Amino acid sequence: MPIIKRLIHFLVPDTCLYCGSEGSMACEGCLPWMVTPKSSTCFLCNRQTRDFATCQRCARKTPLSRVYIAGYYEGYTKELVFRLKYHNGVSAAASLAALMERRLTRDCDVIVPVPASSRRFRQRGYNQAVLLSKHLSRQHGAPHVEALGRVGQSRQVGVDRKSRLTQLQGDIYARKERLVRGQRVLLVDDVLTTGTTLHECAAALKRAGARSVDAVVAAKH
Ligand SMILES: [Zn+2]
Ligand SMILES: [Zn+2]
Repeated sequence: MPIIKRLIHFLVPDTCLYCGSEGSMACEGCLPWMVTPKSSTCFLCNRQTRDFATCQRCARKTPLSRVYIAGYYEGYTKELVFRLKYHNGVSAAASLAALMERRLTRDCDVIVPVPASSRRFRQRGYNQAVLLSKHLSRQHGAPHVEALGRVGQSRQVGVDRKSRLTQLQGDIYARKERLVRGQRVLLVDDVLTTGTTLHECAAALKRAGARSVDAVVAAKH
């Protein structure tokens, strides 16, 4: 975050988007009312499942056991995601992580953020998934480990999903393998679109020896 933005953030306290009280973008009292919880479904086919589990039919297609989705991409969730990406990411991350934490039903051993593409990182100066992961780590009590890396992928823009899948092969790789081997990993990202990126991250973690991979996102597009 640029120094001037940090300074403004320091001087002007956050206010709740709903009631206007000072302290955070979503105060504890308002948080439950600001977001419609997303119903529990399989992230690939939208079939109803328990605890956001991947359904039996889709389980063959993905290494992800479940993808928790906190809210629908609308209203306050959309506003918080926008602020996370473009404006004062740190405090929006705190509120979104609180929403995401409420959905989790299973324990995990490590929390791993989805790595930003180098182009996005250069534009923003921070990776929003890292901000979310750090907050979740504090709330959920499992360590935050940046166990995935990504080579530059600006060529991804404007290509269809199939060729994107091909291009992504090998773009995401595991590092710090010792910290994920045999562990139950919780992957973290802000918004789920096609699921391709989460899938690639989970595949890399599995190759590194992760016992299981779940994921949590704030919303689904
Ligand atoms: Zn409030
Ligand atoms: Zn399914």
